[in-house]
Amino acid sequence: MGSLGNKSSLPVANPGLSFWQQTTRSFPYLNVNRSEPVPKKSEYVVIGSGISGALTTFELIEGGVSPEDIVILEAREAASGASSRNAGHVRPDAFRGFQVYQKVLGKEQALKIIANEKLVFEKVDEFVKKHNVECDFNPTTTFDVCLTQEFADFNAQSLKEYKEAGGDTGHIKFYEGKEAKQKTRIAQTVTAYEWPAGSSHPAKLAQWLLTQSINKGSALFTHCPAMSIKKSPRSSSEETLWEVTTPRGTITTSTIIHCTNAFAPHLLPQLAAFVTPNRAQAHAFVPPSALNGANVLPSTMSLRHSLKHFYSVAQRKPDGVIILGAPRTNPNISQAALDSRLLPDDSAFNDEVRDDTLANFASCFPECSPKQLNHGEGLWHSWTGIIAMTPDSVPFVGQLPDMQGQWVCAGFNGHGMARIFTCAPGLAKLVLGGTWADTGLPECFESTEARLEGLSNGVAGSVF
Ligand SMILES: Cc1cc2nc3c(=O)[nH]c(=O)nc-3n(C[C@H](O)[C@H](O)[C@H](O)COP(=O)(O)OP(=O)(O)OC[C@H]3O[C@@H](n4cnc5c(N)ncnc54)[C@H](O)[C@@H]3O)c2cc1C
Repeated sequence: MGSLGNKSSLPVANPGLSFWQQTTRSFPYLNVNRSEPVPKKSEYVVIGSGISGALTTFELIEGGVSPEDIVILEAREAASGASSRNAGHVRPDAFRGFQVYQKVLGKEQALKIIANEKLVFEKVDEFVKKHNVECDFNPTTTFDVCLTQEFADFNAQSLKEYKEAGGDTGHIKFYEGKEAKQKTRIAQTVTAYEWPAGSSHPAKLAQWLLTQSINKGSALFTHCPAMSIKKSPRSSSEETLWEVTTPRGTITTSTIIHCTNAFAPHLLPQLAAFVTPNRAQAHAFVPPSALNGANVLPSTMSLRHSLKHFYSVAQRKPDGVIILGAPRTNPNISQAALDSRLLPDDSAFNDEVRDDTLANFASCFPECSPKQLNHGEGLWHSWTGIIAMTPDSVPFVGQLPDMQGQWVCAGFNGHGMARIFTCAPGLAKLVLGGTWADTGLPECFESTEARLEGLSNGVAGSVF
């Protein structure tokens, strides 16, 4: 399949497994329809079975689409992209990115972006409770732990600008001095902010969503990449039809929904300049006694040296395993390690990124340094996944310019768990004839021609 370093590739054919995948190998639909030919036609073709594709399908059915009218194509195992490879955080940005969003997208959009993230967390919480989804969802709080004065100043400035713009701060707590160190249990903490957030087992969530639609009659074809799309000669002046070619046949459809995130440019070359695949890395860590039993970390954390140099920490409630996310940029690691992050290849991980993540964690929690650990404690597993960066830090949602019937929900900037639960339902509304206002999403998320044109001229900065 796709070649390394090619921004428009398909997912690699030999991915490694994440902790989430290792613990869900008995999912009955993991390799469903892996050898079956695809149907010759379908009303709807959803490409990608991650949380975007799975939730969009779920919402289309909720919106009245007959489940049998939806085919989902997945290049590899079910939900084997970033949705089953992330760091498990459902963590809204409460204010931090505001000053950058404001510069790039203006005050109104910046306020809407932050409000949307809060809404996503509330929606995930509500959805999981309503449907009794077994995905280890743990609604709690999170700390932005400022480990340097420089970042403490940045965050203070963001909060100031957000407040001045009229942003909602009622749910954010601030700590400094001794209290900040006590709350976070980290001696180096300069300041800390706390707000509601959570964590989940993302593969279980994606698999639950897929199961609902499959059980109702939708067909998921795994190991079946959509390789190319062309306009069907059977299109008429009233209706554009598309032919989606896969290794197991061609499907003709009027409606294609691209939920391929980092891989969107393969089928949509017009997005190649705006959706950039980046490799992200995460780790599962078995805690020593200082962080197990009654000592588990009740809140999740982002250990922050600067805006882009940060490490996520989420300790799982069911088993105490700590999930550690690695930073995208980092002044301490070699150019070679940074370059490895440009590979759209999730078959392996980078040793230097792993060592740096563990060293940072041990510097915050000295009980977790290698010499303090007993056999069986410490690093359990490392893995990577491919995220989709966009120049303005927000996703593409909506119909693609000049492509009647082709829709997109992609470009989540390594932050999809805090966005997809409003974007996918919003996209389903649009596909079913709703207006942008019906989606409730920030206007800057829409995949309009004007946005693509604007991005071609460059943007002022990014949040991730
Ligand atoms: C290591 C890591 C840590 C992360 N941590 C967090 C976090 O803590 N919090 C957070 O909010 N976000 C996090 N993310 C990002 C988050 O996982 C993503 O934003 C989210 O999962 C995107 O979901 P998706 O469904 O859009 O894409 P994906 O889950 O990537 O799904 C896209 C699917 O499309 C398939 N596909 C691609 N091309 C084709 C094709 N041509 N034909 C058929 N199928 C195709 C892929 O195989 C894949 O299954 C992290 C990501 C990684 C990798």
